[in-house]
Amino acid sequence: MRQSCQSAVKDAIAYTFCVSDDTHLFSLSGEIALVTGATRGIGAEIAGQFRAAGADVIGTATTPAGASAIAERLGGDDAGKVLDVASDESVKALMADLGGRLPTILVNNAGIVRDKLLLRMKPDDWQDVVNTNLNSAYRLCKACLRGMLKARRGRIINLSSVVGVAGAAGQGNYAAAKAGLLGFTRALAQEVAGRGITVNAIAPGYIETGMTADLPAERKDAMIAQIPAGRVGTPLDVAGAAVYLASPAASYVTGTVLHVNGGMWMG
Ligand code: NAP
Repeated sequence: MRQSCQSAVKDAIAYTFCVSDDTHLFSLSGEIALVTGATRGIGAEIAGQFRAAGADVIGTATTPAGASAIAERLGGDDAGKVLDVASDESVKALMADLGGRLPTILVNNAGIVRDKLLLRMKPDDWQDVVNTNLNSAYRLCKACLRGMLKARRGRIINLSSVVGVAGAAGQGNYAAAKAGLLGFTRALAQEVAGRGITVNAIAPGYIETGMTADLPAERKDAMIAQIPAGRVGTPLDVAGAAVYLASPAASYVTGTVLHVNGGMWMG
């Protein structure tokens, strides 16, 4: 029994390290990655690191100028595309524009905040945040899944947040959307696991980007005081987690939430 266990482990290790003769454990060579919201912050870093790992990357922006800047950064005319993740029509137009270039990796990264205490939160503040952060994942997963099912492989990574598990005053809309993404991740992971497709979430803590730039100094200090690592996170901290989840190294990891928060919340 002990002998057969040892040989099973040996086989698994041999398999893991020999995904193919010319493929490194963290290589994304041969993959087509679609990263939403790749103009700046976390999405820009994920797109850049995916490119560095060998993927053919399509990054999206809400404007043509943003799409051109992405294309220039990633070094390919076709690397930047315009997309409004809050619109069914825009997702359809993007998929039509991609033609046969079907993504094998999808990162649902685009997101917004409209922070307000509930009694001051307007219906639009709720709808816009839920539509952009949560309904977008429904739209894009549906649009990309057919190609992944055909290819019998795929990686879906949803950007949730520590706020989706711990909550935060003034972020009821955002917390609901980010918590919803976690349930969605687990449900979809179960639907497609048998087809070679993994679905995981990353829950960043406090990351220094445009999204957090306007936080009042005292709120930032209070948040840093709650981070055992003693510092805020960087987009690169999150991109490392995304490269791992997209890579052959994570082929047996699905339905999980990877917390990238310096120990701020341990679930
Ligand atoms: P960011 O710097 O504000 O960048 C947001 C990105 O989303 C931009 O590329 C923006 O594109 C895009 N975007 C916004 N609305 C869009 C729409 N309707 N359609 C398509 N793209 C849209 O944000 P970030 O801090 O990098 O956050 C990235 C993700 O991580 C978000 O989902 C966020 O909720 C999550 N997160 C962030 C933190 C943090 O501390 N920063 C923590 C936890 C989770 P344009 O430039 O074209 O507007």
